[in-house]
Amino acid sequence: MLPVLFTLIALPYANDALEPVISRETIEYHHGKHLQTYVDNLNRLVAGTEYETMSLEQIVCHAQGAVLNNAGQILNHNLYFTQFRPAAATDYYAISDSELMKAIVRDFGSFEAFQAEFEQKGIGLFGSGWVWLAADKDGKLVITQEANAGNPITRGLRPLLTMDVWEHAYYIDYRNRRAAHLQALWQIINWNEINRRYTAK
Ligand code: MN
Repeated sequence: MLPVLFTLIALPYANDALEPVISRETIEYHHGKHLQTYVDNLNRLVAGTEYETMSLEQIVCHAQGAVLNNAGQILNHNLYFTQFRPAAATDYYAISDSELMKAIVRDFGSFEAFQAEFEQKGIGLFGSGWVWLAADKDGKLVITQEANAGNPITRGLRPLLTMDVWEHAYYIDYRNRRAAHLQALWQIINWNEINRRYTAK
């Protein structure tokens, strides 16, 4: 038996809590099978290497190849799955005076303009990858497109919010309709958590 260095993150909600935006079946496959596989792969790959004692963030900024890909997918999915809450909960207007929302309006013109650019960059990303809201060292917000397991942390940016555009994230519920999936995800974003990430020092 290999030592378990990295573990599957626990979800802060029930598997069916995000329905109808994300179904229980999608959560069971995406979290329970896809993410579990990345965790198992990374534990096998790093055993006995210099990466054994590193954090996911450190590995992503130093490794290449399969170690980078599997660590990147774990880091990305950990941020992804912990940014949601049930759709009926408080929406973003409740924190419109937060530091994050003020920065969104400052850097994109309006919340709606930010949403439109974010969706377009998710729709326009060819193949598998991730679209991110990230902050630079001065707190300025940017939207980035990352292929495969990419994360803007590798360019010195702080990742805040992400949408997974790998087909495994939406194919069960939305089939080929990536745009419809991305538009629906706004209903379940936990803006208090995104604001916490933004204001964390
Ligand atoms: Mn995924």
